[in-house]
Amino acid sequence: MTDQTTNQGSIHKAILKDGLKDELKAQFVLTQSEAEAVAEKMDPLISARLWAGLRFVAGNKQDPLTWIFFLESLVALKQKGKSHKLQKLFVGYADEAEKIELLDGFLFSRRYRFGTKGKRVVRHVMFRGFLSDEKWKSENFDPSWNSWRGYCSGGTPSPICFCVDWIKSQKHLINKYLRVLIGHLYEMRCAVVHEAFPVVFFPDLFLAPHIQSTMRDAYPIGHGLSWFRSYESSIRPNRFIEILRNVAKCYLLK
Ligand SMILES: [Zn+2]
Repeated sequence: MTDQTTNQGSIHKAILKDGLKDELKAQFVLTQSEAEAVAEKMDPLISARLWAGLRFVAGNKQDPLTWIFFLESLVALKQKGKSHKLQKLFVGYADEAEKIELLDGFLFSRRYRFGTKGKRVVRHVMFRGFLSDEKWKSENFDPSWNSWRGYCSGGTPSPICFCVDWIKSQKHLINKYLRVLIGHLYEMRCAVVHEAFPVVFFPDLFLAPHIQSTMRDAYPIGHGLSWFRSYESSIRPNRFIEILRNVAKCYLLK
């Protein structure tokens, strides 16, 4: 290798590191020393991918799916096991309040065959845990609420749903249900990427902040458009993005 080639390689690495630091500061509001610490611990290939990922995010900041792709790129060095890696990422780096907010924000049905009849009941992923916890219900239910104990509904406040109150008192189960939720969100992401199926994901991004809104939709699971799952979401897309950004930031600064 000539001196000139070596110099060019060093210059490229320096440009890459500077570009990466600038994007880290822009997207995560990192200080110069925080950005330097993140950039220094990455090898050139990972730096290049992270820089490209951050530039992709910069051009699509309002798109929740872009942020899911970005988180995926942070942890998925290999092709397989991305869903599991995303689950681990959220378990490890979202804080407890963010985890509960995510669990509160989505309801899902069981899977069903497309075209079959039947009620597509959607529920929080922790609903069955709440429903079977007779001890909690006996200790926390006013008798006048008994007729509501089998209900589950999205949106906040949710006067006929006790899933969120229940999971707040079952801290050891939060990560278990969070993994289920992230698995479902990954299914939705796969429906878009692998089946080119339009998945709405969230209530309208442009609604005024004081308007409470939920939306209902369905997506195919796996290949072939045979199995579907219905879902309802009430979390605002910009809040969802904020949580994903926090998760990415905590991961990068670990
Ligand atoms: Zn519920």
